[in-house]
Amino acid sequence: MFWWRTAALLLGAIFLALLLQPIVGWRISLAVLSGSLLALLGYHLYNLDRLGRWLNDPTPDTVPESYGAWEGVYSRLYRMVRAQGKSQRKLSAALDRFVAAGEAMPEGVVVLDSNDRIEWCNPRSMQHLGLDRKKDLGQHVAYLVRLPAFQHYLTTQDYSQPVILRNVAGSDTILSVQLVPFDSTRKLLLTRDITQLERVQTVHRDFVANVSHELRTPLTVVGGFLETLIDMPDMDLATRQSQLKMMFDQTGRMQRLVEDLLTLSRLESGAEGREDRVDAVQLAQVLAAEAEGLSKGRHQVCVEVLSEAGLRGNYDELHSAFGNLVSNAVRYTPEGGQIRLKWRLEDGCGVFAVEDTGLGVEAQHIPRLTERFYRVDRGRSRSTGGTGLGLAIVKHIAQRHQAKLEVSSELGKGSCFRIRFPANRVLEPQELLLSSK
Ligand code: ADP
Repeated sequence: MFWWRTAALLLGAIFLALLLQPIVGWRISLAVLSGSLLALLGYHLYNLDRLGRWLNDPTPDTVPESYGAWEGVYSRLYRMVRAQGKSQRKLSAALDRFVAAGEAMPEGVVVLDSNDRIEWCNPRSMQHLGLDRKKDLGQHVAYLVRLPAFQHYLTTQDYSQPVILRNVAGSDTILSVQLVPFDSTRKLLLTRDITQLERVQTVHRDFVANVSHELRTPLTVVGGFLETLIDMPDMDLATRQSQLKMMFDQTGRMQRLVEDLLTLSRLESGAEGREDRVDAVQLAQVLAAEAEGLSKGRHQVCVEVLSEAGLRGNYDELHSAFGNLVSNAVRYTPEGGQIRLKWRLEDGCGVFAVEDTGLGVEAQHIPRLTERFYRVDRGRSRSTGGTGLGLAIVKHIAQRHQAKLEVSSELGKGSCFRIRFPANRVLEPQELLLSSK
């Protein structure tokens, strides 16, 4: 197009000069031809200059306008620059989105270049590895994460599994760190906080170890007695009876342990229990009768009811929680002691309490009493048939009822275990008339 137009103008000027020559003579027609060629040259030089200046800042809005041959050139330039701008905007929007996604990731992401220097990192990785985006970009990652386990992982070049790092940047977080090669030379460094997971696994491991230990002792006792019975078929009746009695006690202990474990697992499974209208006064009396049964007359048991209010909750669970407190009071109170079951309202909250004048617990043990298998006096707990799970069950049941277990105790003087229920679980006495339990 450009060539055609210029060639047409040149031919036009030559044709005009030839046409004028017979009329105005050679000189004038040559002057007209030269003038036309100069004008054409000027037009091109002028536009070339505008193009050169526009190229210093080539935006679509400043593309020069012209006519003739340069009009087509400029309009094509305009279209090209506009299309380019559009695809650039699209690309940078896509890039922004990827960066924003990387920034928002709940896991740490660091981009490493071919020399393991940090190119980019997201806020979570900064938090995990103690990085500073301003200072640490361009730094070698091994200078910043100096743990030997990481250095070894980086150099082995086997990144199929993550490496577990503890005490990174002086924090007690446990990190799972994995390198993922990409783009033939670069690497992604992914960091994940697994502190909670590790804790759960430790608790789980300890729990399995505890359960095995708890079961091993009675099993060893039963196994030993059985062996003796097999080896000594003509053992005297009294010894045989006493050994059978001890075996029976041990199997009872295992049974209680299994029952408590099943109760805990049911409570932990989170399945909602049925909601009953529980007559707390009647429940306190049932528990007092049970306490007397357990005590076999060795303690003085009394019930102190200061409210007729009831409770909204699962009867079986509440019975089990209060029953555990009562059984503990009987087991940890020496003969002649007093056990008091109390039900009252305090600021609208329902409070069920079991008070005893027993052995009591030193203050430092109190926060740990609800841990599974935590016992202050292991021997006493076992000899009185304890599983070490009673208060863990009580705490779970309290939590399922949005209630709180409060403990106060003094060594040698006695203890008070209280379960405080929120006001919205307390029922007016007349509401109990509708209840079945
Ligand atoms: P256990 O089966 O050993 O009684 P629990 O979880 O019911 O397990 O109680 C945990 C520990 O708390 C007990 O081993 C005991 O040392 C202490 N404890 C619980 N109740 C009382 C109490 N009323 N008086 C003194 N110590 C208690």
